[in-house]
Amino acid sequence: MTDCIFCKIVRGEIPAKVAYEDDDFIAFHDIAPAAPVHLLLIPKQHIASLADLREEHRDLMGKMLLLAPKLAAEHGAGNGFKTLFNTGKDGGQVVFHLHMHIIGGPRPWTNAQLIG
Ligand code: 5GP
Ligand code: ZN
Repeated sequence: MTDCIFCKIVRGEIPAKVAYEDDDFIAFHDIAPAAPVHLLLIPKQHIASLADLREEHRDLMGKMLLLAPKLAAEHGAGNGFKTLFNTGKDGGQVVFHLHMHIIGGPRPWTNAQLIG
């Protein structure tokens, strides 16, 4: 999608601190981290939100879940992490390109800001 900010990151049109990339996914550091480790894992394919998933995305989403603990461990959140999908306006979703927040790192850190 042309004007989607995360599609622009996928295409390299705007900079991001990339943590992982393969044919189907890219993970990058959140621009406003809520904890010492805050990655955004996104499919390269534009899917707006969890609410837009279809049967054809089953394998892709399975792969996404398997990637999460691997990326967390590789980026300093091996002792535990939160995963979060904000979905839709009332779910607090701001960027309408499906993304998994992977949030963790050594405590203490507050998680109050994750609820917004
Ligand atoms: P949402 O509320 O949609 O789940 O969260 C979107 C997340 O994307 C926010 O945590 C926000 O900080 C992050 N974000 C928004 N724009 C950019 C950007 O241009 N680069 C990066 N790295 N993160 C972004
Ligand atoms: Zn997009």
